[in-house]
Amino acid sequence: MRTGAISIKVIGGILAVWAGIVSLPVQATAQDNSAVARDARVGGDLKRTRFVADLSDTVEFRAFLLADPHRVIVDLPKVQFLMPPGVGEKGRGLINAFRYGLFAKGKSRIVIDTVGPVVIDKAFVRPAENGQPARLVIDLIKASEQEFEEQRQRQALLRAVKPETDQVSINGSVDSSTANADSGKPVIVLDPGHGGPDPGTVTGGSVYEKDVVLAFCKELKAALEATGRFRVLMTREEDIFVPLGARVDFARQAQANLMLSVHADALDIKHPLVTKKMIQEVRGASVYTLSEEASDALANVIATRENNSDVLAGVELPPSADGSLASILIDLMHRETKNLSIAFAKQLLNGLAQHTPLTKTPHRYADFRVLKAEDVPSVLLELGFLSNPNDETALTSEEWRSNVAKAITESIGAFFEQRLVSVPG
Ligand code: ZN
Repeated sequence: MRTGAISIKVIGGILAVWAGIVSLPVQATAQDNSAVARDARVGGDLKRTRFVADLSDTVEFRAFLLADPHRVIVDLPKVQFLMPPGVGEKGRGLINAFRYGLFAKGKSRIVIDTVGPVVIDKAFVRPAENGQPARLVIDLIKASEQEFEEQRQRQALLRAVKPETDQVSINGSVDSSTANADSGKPVIVLDPGHGGPDPGTVTGGSVYEKDVVLAFCKELKAALEATGRFRVLMTREEDIFVPLGARVDFARQAQANLMLSVHADALDIKHPLVTKKMIQEVRGASVYTLSEEASDALANVIATRENNSDVLAGVELPPSADGSLASILIDLMHRETKNLSIAFAKQLLNGLAQHTPLTKTPHRYADFRVLKAEDVPSVLLELGFLSNPNDETALTSEEWRSNVAKAITESIGAFFEQRLVSVPG
C-alpha cells in the first residue's frame, strides 16, 4: 500500500517525487485562522525561569499574576493547542506545571503554576524568523511575597481599566430556538466536567477526564433525544472551560428538571500511600448528591478536587460573586429538590448497576459547588476510576459508552414516569 506514504526515487542523483502517488503526511491544520501552538517548554532554575510556547503566528496576549495559589496567567485570542501529550505536567525551576486550553468563546488561556511567589520580568512574542516558529516567551524571576503582591495589584488595576479578556462566559447561553418544538418536554442539562485549561484527571498523559466526560455526554444526549421525550442541553459541547457557577446558572436559566454533572475519578498513582493493589481494586461508578457534610472522607476529597476547577483554570472570581455562591445555604434549598435529587441518584444507580461496576458505597454525598442550583434536582456522576486499567479501557470504549448511556436514559425515563415531575410552562 502506497497510500499515505511518500514515494521517492533517486534517479541519477536527482531526487524525483512521483507526483501521482505522493501523499504528504496529513498536517494537523487549523480549522480557522487562529494561531496554532505546537509545543511549549520550560528552561532555567529556581532564580529565573523561561516559559516558551511555539506558535504558528504572532498573537496579542496579556500575562498577569494570580494569588492563592501563586500562578501566572497568559490570556490569548483563540489558539489551537496541538501540543504533544503530557506537555506541561512537569515543570522546571520556578514552574511546577502548566495547563492550556479554550477559556471562553474566542479566548484561550495558559495557566502556569509556580513553586512560590514570582514576578514577570519580561513577556513578549517573537515573530517567526530563520525557519523558527513565532514564540511566546514569559520570563519569571523569584520574588518575595511583597514583590509578587505589588506586581499582581498593578496588573489587576490595568485589567480593571481594560477588562474584556477577563470576562468569563458560558459556552453559549440557553438556546431557546428548540424550546417551542420541545415545549412540554422535561429539560435535562448534561454537564461534562472540566474543559479548556482544566483537564480534570489525567492518566499517563494521554487520557484526559475532560475528553472522556464530553464524549460520554454527547452519547448520552443522543440517546436521550432519540426517545423523543426530552429536551437536552449541555453546559459545554467542546473543549472549553466553563466556571462552576456558570454551570449552575445555566441549569437554572434553562429551568431544567434535572441536571446531571458527569466526571471521572482517579487515584493519585504517584501518592506514596497508593499501592498497586489499590489501583487494581478501586474502580467503579459513584453517584453524588449535595450535602454540607460529606458522607465519608473520600467523598470530601473528591468534592474538594472537583470544586477546584475554577482555580485550575485561573479564574479570579470577584469576592462578591464567590460570596453569593457560598452564601447559598443548603438549608434553604427546597426540600423537594433535595429529595428529588436523592430519588434520582437511586434510580440512576439501579440502571448503572446492570452495565458497569459500582464502588462499594455507590451513593455518597458531599459539598459540590456544581450541585447548588437550588431549584434543579442535581446529581454528580463519577463514571469510574481512570487510574484503574479496566475502568480506563471501559470509559474510553465506544461500546461501554453506548451501553451506559442507554442505561442512564432508561433511569431518567423511569424517574420522570414515577415522579411525574412538573414541567415549567
Ligand atoms: Zn472531575
